[in-house]
Amino acid sequence: MAASNLLAGRVAIITGGGSGIGRATCQLFAKNGASVAVVDRTQSSLDETIASLPSDIDNQSHESFVADVSDGGAVRDLVAGVADAFRKPATILVNSAGITRDQLMLKMKEEDFDEVIKVNLKGTFLMCQAVSQAMVKSKVTGGSFINISSVVATMGNIGQANYSASKAGVIGMTKTMAQELSRFEIRCNSVLPGFITTPMTDKVPEKVIKMMLPMIPLGTLGEPNDIAETCLFLASNKSKYITGASINVTGGL
Ligand code: NAP
Repeated sequence: MAASNLLAGRVAIITGGGSGIGRATCQLFAKNGASVAVVDRTQSSLDETIASLPSDIDNQSHESFVADVSDGGAVRDLVAGVADAFRKPATILVNSAGITRDQLMLKMKEEDFDEVIKVNLKGTFLMCQAVSQAMVKSKVTGGSFINISSVVATMGNIGQANYSASKAGVIGMTKTMAQELSRFEIRCNSVLPGFITTPMTDKVPEKVIKMMLPMIPLGTLGEPNDIAETCLFLASNKSKYITGASINVTGGL
């Protein structure tokens, strides 16, 4: 999709915006007119993303926020900080922050199970809750929340009992939020990426990637922008009748 004013005048919070899919989404949303609140754990990753964002449409501006999405207090401070910085609440939220701690379930440590659930599932909950509370309190409608799940939520994956459970949880939780928040005109959808080239998949052994490729009908790994384009559609009014959906972006996997 070529750059347009699809998101002009909107404030978008994007977690995990310092890397991979989150960074590509920040860039595409900025190109399409959004003011972006970029959230991640380290200032250096945020600085790199902010430096790459255009800001030439309709008084756009972008801000970075260091926050741990799994910490409720930090998330509430973040959402208040965004409303202060942009002088209005965010109405678009993309939850892309996520981690893996892969291990066969026979050997998986309890803390690695807990940590993945805490960031991927609870972090997504805390962000959606805080942003929707801010919107409802200030009577702002027309929201779109996009939660990045994963195709392994529906197919499983060796070594990812913790991760696949967290991402399946995201799908169910998003469907519930869609039902609860529709009366406030907030839409909630999840996106299920397949294998996308990012720092997260750089950790996957070459032999595993080679095994996966024949299972992908389109024959290649995806790019972060493939996910960002789907997020742009879901964030914009072009998807105004879509809520509670979970959309595969997998090259057919
Ligand atoms: P990535 O490049 O590792 O980016 C994830 C970002 O989230 C990193 O900058 C990471 O920071 C940040 N983050 C992690 N925990 C955080 C926390 N508690 N608070 C704030 N930020 C945190 O990964 P990606 O591939 O872009 O993945 C983005 C999302 O897509 C994730 O939810 C992932 O599970 C999902 N996904 C990816 C793929 C794929 O093939 N790449 C497939 C399916 C789903 P640190 O670097 O400091 O950890």
